[in-house]
Amino acid sequence: MQTANAQRDTANTMKVLISGASIAGLTLAYWLRQHKFDVTVVELGAGPRTGGAPIDVRGLALDVADRMGILPGIRAARESMEGAAFVNAAGKIVGSLSPDLLAFIK
Ligand SMILES: Cc1cc2nc3c(=O)[nH]c(=O)nc-3n(C[C@H](O)[C@H](O)[C@H](O)COP(=O)(O)OP(=O)(O)OC[C@H]3O[C@@H](n4cnc5c(N)ncnc54)[C@H](O)[C@@H]3O)c2cc1C
Repeated sequence: MQTANAQRDTANTMKVLISGASIAGLTLAYWLRQHKFDVTVVELGAGPRTGGAPIDVRGLALDVADRMGILPGIRAARESMEGAAFVNAAGKIVGSLSPDLLAFIK
């Protein structure tokens, strides 16, 4: 049985619909849930993408990830990169980035 306060809290819970379950949508959903909003996230894509490039998390994102408690998981999943190369259709390297330019999380 709900108390009067709990009933009032439920009645006043703001419902929020977030369109897009990528980094912005999911981060916003997390923080709104922390502040007791009733959040629904919808996503156009059928599921998580399994391919792609490493994600470079740096700057303020590190602080946010830390406050969300996911920084240890990010660190555990990290990859090391020795550089990056851009190739043409024939596989010939047409440009490259040195490791110095790739400031992945330490
Ligand atoms: C090749 C590449 C590499 C990158 N590397 C990095 C990196 O290393 N580090 C970094 O910080 N940033 C990187 N970025 C930038 C980063 O991807 C974007 O800044 C970030 O994805 C933006 O997040 P978002 O949640 O705002 O939008 P998005 O990631 O674009 O997500 C939008 C989501 O909304 C969904 N959506 C769209 N329309 C609808 C709809 N009508 N209904 C429901 N869902 C919908 C989409 O399917 C998608 O999941 C990279 C970008 C690219 C292209």
